[in-house]
Amino acid sequence: MGGTFDPIHHGHLRSAVDILDAFQFKTLRLIPCYQPVHKGEPSVSAEQRLKMVELGIQADSRLHVDAREILREGRSYSIDTLIQLREELGQEEPLIMVVGMDSFLSLPTWARWQELIDVAHILVISRPGWEPDFISALESFYEKHRAESAAELQCAPAGKIWMQSFTPLAISSSQVRNLCRKKASIAYLVPETIQRFIEANSLYK
Ligand code: ATP
Repeated sequence: MGGTFDPIHHGHLRSAVDILDAFQFKTLRLIPCYQPVHKGEPSVSAEQRLKMVELGIQADSRLHVDAREILREGRSYSIDTLIQLREELGQEEPLIMVVGMDSFLSLPTWARWQELIDVAHILVISRPGWEPDFISALESFYEKHRAESAAELQCAPAGKIWMQSFTPLAISSSQVRNLCRKKASIAYLVPETIQRFIEANSLYK
């Protein structure tokens, strides 16, 4: 699961845990980007975003942080990351890219987007406020690769798209940043450890 994580919040974390439980996956990697391709510059440094992901995942040992995009620097293209992961995992291991519905809707704007499915499956998770209204290029891509069941994601290394709804949490990083700017509380939107880190480092003022 890639993201800007500016900052990580309970919408990310609950989705990650829901996925692990639903699919019985061994691990889920959260991969903070260095420079997002489709958003403006993050509000805080890559190191601070990475630190917050590390703090956020502490409650579940199945969650891992993968700093490869930050170490790579430059613009963070998902296709580069997936190709690198595929090389490390070998050709047979299922690899699944997790994206929220909002991200999936923007897929046709991503670099080499049609190649993503050659390297990994795509698991699209629901997000409050976002419906699967696909433009035609995405609709045909989805129809071509749609899995018949979730189990298909674990039967082949790549090539299938599956959509699934989990605990709907209408939380976003921009909402957290806006509340901080207004000096309003961000309690219960992010883990306490992250709330403390944001306060201690005077982030998002
Ligand atoms: P921002 O508000 O700054 O745009 P964001 O909350 O969308 O940020 P990202 O780090 O950009 O957070 O999201 C990383 C991934 O997590 C994306 O695929 C996004 O769709 C998904 N995601 C983020 N928040 C939720 C949520 N509340 N429910 C489900 N998926 C989410």
